[in-house]
Amino acid sequence: MRFGFDIDDTLINLREHAFQLYNKKLNQTIPLEIFHTLEKVEIHEPFGMTAVEGSQMWNDSLEEIYYTNCPAYPNAVEILQQLTDEGHEVFYITARPTEHGDRTKAWLIQQGFPVKDENFYCGMKDQEKVTIIQKLQLDYYFDDKPDVLNTLTDCKTKVYVKTQSYNKHLTIPRFSDWSEWKQLGKEQNHK
Ligand SMILES: [Mg+2]
Repeated sequence: MRFGFDIDDTLINLREHAFQLYNKKLNQTIPLEIFHTLEKVEIHEPFGMTAVEGSQMWNDSLEEIYYTNCPAYPNAVEILQQLTDEGHEVFYITARPTEHGDRTKAWLIQQGFPVKDENFYCGMKDQEKVTIIQKLQLDYYFDDKPDVLNTLTDCKTKVYVKTQSYNKHLTIPRFSDWSEWKQLGKEQNHK
């Protein structure tokens, strides 16, 4: 089988990590409860920033957001390792800027994720992911972002959404924790 994964906020807890970084950098203590109620992917609003300021802050902080100690979600590394051990293909499809491709790959490997150079796709806009997902003929694809997921409704690929505060309105199959993986497998087999 061919499994495709978005990285940020699907396999790793990036926005929460960034939210805590913002707290530190801005000398704030905005609680995570606020983070968990955000209805947008962007995290700047509780810090009183405009969209422009928020995107500036995000870009200025990318180095720390991407390459410090952002945790993988529990069980994500183990599940992807198990998939490759069982002979499945694991693909990564991320919108991270192309210039961050090599370092992101190295970072993922450091965290224990199984990464093959030829299975790593980087730098796509939200609307472009669908093209690569179809070209790769993925059996399964996992993502968190409504702007991506909404482009995949007509794909043959079985799509799952990693539940986040900003995607609760989507009606496609979902999971909130990678420990639900076995359960997802059972549901798949019933179809
Ligand atoms: Mg994502």
